Amino acid sequence: MSVALPITALPFARRGACPSLDEPMLTGDGFLARVRIVGGCLSPAQLEAIAQQAQRHGNGLLEITARGNLQVRGLTESSRRLFAVAVRGIIEVESGLVVETPPLAGDDPSEISDPRPLAAAIRDISQPFARYLGPKVTVVVDGAGQIGLAGLKADVRIVAMASDRWALSVADGGAVELHASEVLNRVSAVLQQLADLGSAARATDLGPAQRQPRVRAASSPIGTFTLSGGSARGIALPFGSATAVAIMSLAQTAAQLAIAELRLAPHHGLLAVGASPAFVEQAAQLGFVTTGSDPRTRISACIGSDGCASGHVPARAIAAQLAPHLPANTHLHVSGCAKGCAHPRPADITLVGRADGYGLVIGGKAGDTPGALLQADQLESSLAAR
Ligand code: SF4
Repeated sequence: MSVALPITALPFARRGACPSLDEPMLTGDGFLARVRIVGGCLSPAQLEAIAQQAQRHGNGLLEITARGNLQVRGLTESSRRLFAVAVRGIIEVESGLVVETPPLAGDDPSEISDPRPLAAAIRDISQPFARYLGPKVTVVVDGAGQIGLAGLKADVRIVAMASDRWALSVADGGAVELHASEVLNRVSAVLQQLADLGSAARATDLGPAQRQPRVRAASSPIGTFTLSGGSARGIALPFGSATAVAIMSLAQTAAQLAIAELRLAPHHGLLAVGASPAFVEQAAQLGFVTTGSDPRTRISACIGSDGCASGHVPARAIAAQLAPHLPANTHLHVSGCAKGCAHPRPADITLVGRADGYGLVIGGKAGDTPGALLQADQLESSLAAR
């Protein structure tokens, strides 16, 4: 199943490359397809059916990304097409400009304004030049409710300030407050500029942004959330990944508990609308993350050598072993190699798989020069020493 290619030859090295269902990206473990489900909503039966296809055509794992997209790895040259056809038969998949809204949008009594109509209007106005925009160009429209998207990078971010006023920022620079009637023109102008610059352009290319610290921390999707007509309970995939078998079991559990709707959520989350505590209990038994205090929420890890030709160590398996030993308030990144796919930013502690052991980087990224070289039997003690 593994497809070994020199890393420099892989499409993921190209700026602006982004996998989709129809154009999956070749990685160290075959093709990676990202499935953009319309509205991020699916029924338990649809989730189970997609997991079955992932097991049949991929490497048997499913991922929910940090942005809340479903992802399947390990597809082959022939199976990727079969997978795409099968998924389109199960659920509606979107394409075009990425316009993201929070997973509870429209049902969240605490949000200042429902962002979905504005998001739909942005999708409409982007159509004439969407094909000239790079696939990673992203507009976030956030109603400022319980699960915000503040932790996710955006080319254009629009956050509700009042029922008819929105704060708009480009490349996460300084925000301008606009009346609802002005927002579309401003977004259209930015997208037009990006389209003129070509498909490699991101909003950071439009000029130096006056970067401002994000006021709201990233929201966790784990826990119980009040909806206008009920509630939702959120869980997360450990390290963003689960086996297709576990996902199928989870979907069957949801169906047995009469849960009609699941929603993909940022930070590897899955929300079950109308779920009872029994859903959470059974998800925990299946190995999913069900409490915000679970140390796995503070660990990033790629598949490593269990599924990637570039990996020197089984990063997720190591991360699972180390989770109980992780000190409080510490973010650990276990990376199969120096590329650092799972967390391209600095972490408190980064363990980088190498042919001769694990590089230890404190307060840096996977690609930084390690301060020490550790062996497998030294990993736990290295965490305890922090
Ligand atoms: S960081 Fe992990 S997923 Fe990325 S290339 Fe290295 S081993 Fe593969």
